[in-house]
Amino acid sequence: MKVTADFHVHSYYSRDSVITFPLLVEWCKRSGVDVVAIMDHDRFEGAVEFKRLSEDRRSAGLWAPKIIPGQEIRTTRGEICGLFLEAYVPGRLPPDETMRIIRSQGGLVYVPHPFDILKIKRLKASELVELSNLVDIIEVFNGKPRFPAANLLARRFVQKHPYTLAAGSDAHEPTKIGAVRVLLDDFDTPDELMRSLGNARIEGKMYSPFGSALLRLYYRKKYSVVTA
Ligand SMILES: [Zn+2]
Repeated sequence: MKVTADFHVHSYYSRDSVITFPLLVEWCKRSGVDVVAIMDHDRFEGAVEFKRLSEDRRSAGLWAPKIIPGQEIRTTRGEICGLFLEAYVPGRLPPDETMRIIRSQGGLVYVPHPFDILKIKRLKASELVELSNLVDIIEVFNGKPRFPAANLLARRFVQKHPYTLAAGSDAHEPTKIGAVRVLLDDFDTPDELMRSLGNARIEGKMYSPFGSALLRLYYRKKYSVVTA
């Protein structure tokens, strides 16, 4: 069976996101997203909570997207994400150390928006190549890069370097969930995901960070969402 996954979504545990669990369920359903990786900035409680709530709903016979617990971790050289994490990963460590912690939990190392060159701290292409033994997945398409050509640069990079590819909306607002998505064979484990990504289709559209900030204000007001 094919599923649609968004590998980069922030819950309201990220201070710049307004996505609560009920809004996640509503908008995943509306946009046909079956699997979501929760990637909060330097926090892991949201991923744990959303996974539990999703499992509760599903065991009650209600629909909810499947949740992959993840985290977007600030390292000394920019952000690195982990997928299928078991526990919080501490921040501000060198990237290789962060990657080893992710791997030691049985997780997958996912490099988000690798060529968003307007971010001051980030891994350079040469560093990414040096670390390739520790990298599982490159995010080749991000919904909201600060630098508009970042996704093109990422595409060009992976043409020369054989990484496994995935993508995510980087949604901080419910309506952006699934803006960038991956169509792939259903999976449960990290190994199955790596296999499925070998034969996946990435699609979607970029959206503006400015529009996204306005939308966030609207949601904060309408649903009184405060950071958890
Ligand atoms: Zn993010």
